[in-house]
Amino acid sequence: MIPKLTHQENIKKDYFAFLEALSRTDYSGDIEKSYASRLAVATDNSVYQCLPQGVLFPKSTQDIVEICQLAQQDEFADIRFSPRGGGTGTNGQSLSNDLVLDLSRYMNNILELNEKEGWVRVQTGVVKDQLNAYLRPYGLFFSPELSTSNRATIGGMVSCDASGQGSLVYGKTSDHVLALQSVLVDGALLNSAPIKGAELVELRGRDDSIGKIYRQILETCATKQQKISDAFPKLNRFLTGYDLKHVYDAETGTVDLTRILCGAEGSLAFITEAKLHIQKIPTYRTLFNVKYDSFQSALQHAPFLVNANALSVETIDSKVMNLAKLDIVWHSVSELIADVPGKCVDGLNIVEFVEEDAQIQAQKVAALAAKLDALIANQEDGVIGYQICDDLADINRIYGMRKKAVGLLGNTAGSAKPIAFVEDTCVPPENLAAYIIEFRQLLDEHNLHYGMFGHVDAGVLHVRPALDMCDPEQEKMMRNISDKVVALTAKYKGLMWGEHGKGFRSEYGPEFFGEELFTELRKIKAAFDPNNRVNPGKICTPLNSMESLVSVDALKRGTFDRQIPIKVRESFKESIDCNGNGLCFNYDTSSPMCPSVKVTKDRRHSPKGRAGLMREWLRQLANNDIDVLQLESNLYAGKNATVFKKFFNTVAKRKGEYDFSHEVMEAMQGCLACKACTSQCPIQVDVPTFRARFMHLYHNRYLRPLKDYFVAYVETYAPLMGKMPNFFNFFMKMKLTATLTEKFVGMVDIPLLSSPTLKSSVKQHDISEFDLQKLQVLSDAERESYVLVVQDPFTTYYDADVVRDLLLTIKKLGYKPLLLPFKPNGKPQHIKGFLSQFAKTAEDSAAFLNQMAQLNIPMLGTDPAMVLCYRDEYKHALGDKRGDFNVHLFQEWLLPRLGEAERPQSNEQFFLFGHCTEVTAEPTSSSDWAKIFKHYGATLTNVPVGCCGMAGTYGHDAGHLSDSKAIYSLSWEREIAKRDRSRCLATGYSCRSQVKRIEGQTLKHPVQALLSIL
Ligand SMILES: Cc1cc2nc3c(=O)[nH]c(=O)nc-3n(C[C@H](O)[C@H](O)[C@H](O)COP(=O)(O)OP(=O)(O)OC[C@H]3O[C@@H](n4cnc5c(N)ncnc54)[C@H](O)[C@@H]3O)c2cc1C
Ligand code: SF4
Ligand code: SF4
Repeated sequence: MIPKLTHQENIKKDYFAFLEALSRTDYSGDIEKSYASRLAVATDNSVYQCLPQGVLFPKSTQDIVEICQLAQQDEFADIRFSPRGGGTGTNGQSLSNDLVLDLSRYMNNILELNEKEGWVRVQTGVVKDQLNAYLRPYGLFFSPELSTSNRATIGGMVSCDASGQGSLVYGKTSDHVLALQSVLVDGALLNSAPIKGAELVELRGRDDSIGKIYRQILETCATKQQKISDAFPKLNRFLTGYDLKHVYDAETGTVDLTRILCGAEGSLAFITEAKLHIQKIPTYRTLFNVKYDSFQSALQHAPFLVNANALSVETIDSKVMNLAKLDIVWHSVSELIADVPGKCVDGLNIVEFVEEDAQIQAQKVAALAAKLDALIANQEDGVIGYQICDDLADINRIYGMRKKAVGLLGNTAGSAKPIAFVEDTCVPPENLAAYIIEFRQLLDEHNLHYGMFGHVDAGVLHVRPALDMCDPEQEKMMRNISDKVVALTAKYKGLMWGEHGKGFRSEYGPEFFGEELFTELRKIKAAFDPNNRVNPGKICTPLNSMESLVSVDALKRGTFDRQIPIKVRESFKESIDCNGNGLCFNYDTSSPMCPSVKVTKDRRHSPKGRAGLMREWLRQLANNDIDVLQLESNLYAGKNATVFKKFFNTVAKRKGEYDFSHEVMEAMQGCLACKACTSQCPIQVDVPTFRARFMHLYHNRYLRPLKDYFVAYVETYAPLMGKMPNFFNFFMKMKLTATLTEKFVGMVDIPLLSSPTLKSSVKQHDISEFDLQKLQVLSDAERESYVLVVQDPFTTYYDADVVRDLLLTIKKLGYKPLLLPFKPNGKPQHIKGFLSQFAKTAEDSAAFLNQMAQLNIPMLGTDPAMVLCYRDEYKHALGDKRGDFNVHLFQEWLLPRLGEAERPQSNEQFFLFGHCTEVTAEPTSSSDWAKIFKHYGATLTNVPVGCCGMAGTYGHDAGHLSDSKAIYSLSWEREIAKRDRSRCLATGYSCRSQVKRIEGQTLKHPVQALLSIL
């Protein structure tokens, strides 16, 4: 049995007192002190780990003022803070052992748009893609780009001065910040924008922190003008944190404090609002995907492409491309970056042209195409092919792949994982090719694997060498390589941080700024934050402070992970491998990733949060000398704890006894087991798998609630109840039953059983009964006309019309459908972590289906989640014992069989609402359905939606009811409301039942629509 885990880093006394005092003020935001909440923000995409004392989620600027004012009291003089947005930093910028102030949960409103003057005012917790989705209908956009655009916040972008693709033309974030509102550590409100003349005189004369800041900036800029101009390289990605070059314009005498705050990595103030310059979305966009025989050829050819007046040139090496090919993302771009027959594509340049004038755009495109044709014909410059795309959706798909590439770099086999520490160096573009040769030599000397890509137009290189941070020797190697890359970058007159900021690399600051200017930075820090209380240790410390900068040698995640035995790490790689890139925080409600964090806005309820908790749980078990794998084997062998023990443990839990496992359980219970993370996460962090394993072990210590049995045994009681549906429905319809089920079982809105039953419908439609012996004696040719339909408990007993119509459709298509006897699938057991029982169910069902597979007749299932369980969960549970039976989804079976024979033609229009498990695991499912409908003349348009909120039985759990409905309202409600409901189709049983309970009317399965047009 797992032990009670009582270890948690306690909150320091003064911090605890501060948080208590804060709760008594007018502060209206959330205050989170739990170990789980603190762990959820203890990591970012870097190798570091810092546990904060607590997490604050302010709701307004006034809340932050409240925090700062309270912190002015003498007793709280040692309290320190670090601002946080999306937490996607690659170098620990937002990590802190103090208090984290997370602005992303509530301060994410777009406040004002002025189309005429071209600006928008936002709170800084707004996500970059959220802003652009808002601006799109106005034909406007916020141009600085970054790979993490679907989760990085404006506050993080401003503070790291983010930039990316297109930076030669669009510049960096700071080039588009018109004004900022910030709260200083003393609680003063700082409104910054370019100022000069009398206004500047007035501000610098003030007798407060704001006056002090202006005086310091003016003094530094007036006295160090030449030094600044010498130290800041003339690069597109200039030296960030703090931007002395742009804060003062000597010609006009203008001071713009926004420039100092941009790139300050939260070390000066809390930025609460930003006024941003926005511009018109270019009318014409064209992308060239130019293919090369090597990465070096692609790099060397980049300047030629830039000179062709391109907006941007992005280079990718074969390692990154090969990783993308293994990922779900490749399905969306494979036709746009097709292989070159007889050649190996080992490098790619993605070149974009934008224009307002169609004719000029066409000329640019034709000119480059002609040049590339000539190079290919003459076999020059390593160019082996190219493809052009000007469809916006295609362009977005290519950039989607490119954006995912950084994350994909983390997905490599083995214990050495590509890590961020030298991942965004920048050198003058003309030095890039030579610089990369030396960089590669350095990595090769250490026998390190790495993938490379970058914004070659700006001289920025993304490279993540693979290191095993659980190995102390490799941790030392990281420092060694880091120092050498600093020297190499300096040699090529570049910067160590061309894009992602410094964070724990702040110790290299003096090297790049020089001692004299670095002292000026410290003076500026002292003016803003004299006692080093805001993101301390990052960028610089205040002058006269004896405290040191954060360092590359700081405490790393590996220090914790290495406490988990290797075999456990390998077994739980689905959680250990999470590298914190934050893709699972995707703000987009039409994306399936991840409904629970979208609805709760609580990072504990994200794949990353759950993976982090799981790692800590495994670590604590290891430190308690628990062999978790042995415990699991014992459970499979039937060695359970006695009910007695579980009872006493459960009583203790009810009395409020602390066990870290309860915190982990809370996060796991919020998971819908929709499996979006399993395929969407670049590292394939698979929450449903480790969640089930956790629950299996947890419930060997604590009793299960009744509802777990209600769900897990649906496949036992539904077939029994399904024999007398009217009898049971009579009781189910009673209000009293609903009240009792909610009160005693904790389940709501239990669906009614199908009546008439599937069995009786089948009889009415002259569909033969399954007879194994008869099938066994059929010839091969005869078998070809048969199709076996595998039943699942949900469609068979609760949505029998769908199965009936599936059988009728198969018949109409000229085949002989047969209904296989019902066999439990086990998915409901898996969801609730009844893994010992699931293993038995899966073994039994697999044996049956393997036997059926011998008949060599295709087998089809109706519900995607149940069918996919045979493919994934069965493989996990049974390994080789699963056998090689195959249960297809209807569209997978029909698509290759669509012949050219005459067929009915319909011009009807339908809309497909895909099941999230299906669309993420089988990315072609929606387009496969569309092809089938097209074959019959009908149109089936895929509607991009996230999760419906039902996910099996999650939505029937009384404790999840409001979240379930809220998830539905994120995307389904809106999209269904836009359309004629009778034209909307859903493949998932859960989705149909969710629509039915919320809208009062169910949707059809696509098979039913097909039947109507056949
Ligand atoms: C896979 C991957 C790809 C990336 N690609 C790019 C890229 O293409 N271009 C690029 O520029 N970066 C890139 N980054 C780095 C990162 O996404 C950016 O730096 C981003 O701007 C950080 O935003 P965030 O909201 O996640 O900020 P966080 O990580 O939460 O914070 C970053 C810094 O900003 C400070 N901060 C945040 N909000 C505030 C605020 N309101 N007030 C004051 N300080 C604040 C924090 O204290 C911290 O120092 C990438 C990161 C990853 C993981
Ligand atoms: S779970 Fe996946 S997507 Fe989320 S942070 Fe971890 S690796 Fe990234
Ligand atoms: S299974 Fe779904 S709800 Fe659960 S963590 Fe993964 S994406 Fe989120």
